Amino acid sequence: GHLDPVAPGEVVGDALLLVQHLLSRSEILVARTDGATRLVMMNRVELQQVLINLMVNAVHAMPQGGTLTVTTRDETRGRQPGVGIEVADTGTGIPEERIGRVFDPFFTTKPQGGTGLGLSISYTLIERAGGTMAVESPPGSGAVFSIWLPEAGSAV
Ligand code: ADP
Ligand code: MG
Repeated sequence: GHLDPVAPGEVVGDALLLVQHLLSRSEILVARTDGATRLVMMNRVELQQVLINLMVNAVHAMPQGGTLTVTTRDETRGRQPGVGIEVADTGTGIPEERIGRVFDPFFTTKPQGGTGLGLSISYTLIERAGGTMAVESPPGSGAVFSIWLPEAGSAV
């Protein structure tokens, strides 16, 4: 949909409120650092949807509880000012042989109810807004999803 200049930290706050019941039910603590001062050019509801997808996946990866860390920061890539948004968990992590497929449509490891579409749709929405999305999962820790979006009105 239509693109608005949005404050990423506000959208993080909205998304956290919408998943709050899942977080408290699973005894998940939230560590939030909202350092971004820049606005990004992305439809607010779409960015909220992307963040909810990442947060719900994080909840599924931490059935025994854990910590959900959500960080925003100003981040310039090359000469392009932008914002980085990181969603990290202390859950199961993603094995190396699987990590290359998590953004594929219909890829899911959830026996019931997984559509495998959340990350694929999220990736597309971020790319359409001119950004990037990546995942890392260092052995023994959880998963870290990193989004980067260009600053609103700053195309180089
Ligand atoms: P779904 O949640 O319906 O399975 P997604 O596209 O959201 O589909 O995720 C695809 C797969 O990527 C998941 O089934 C899971 O195997 C893996 N995955 C996604 N996020 C995480 C995470 N935070 N920790 C561990 N595995 C994850
Ligand atoms: Mg999902």
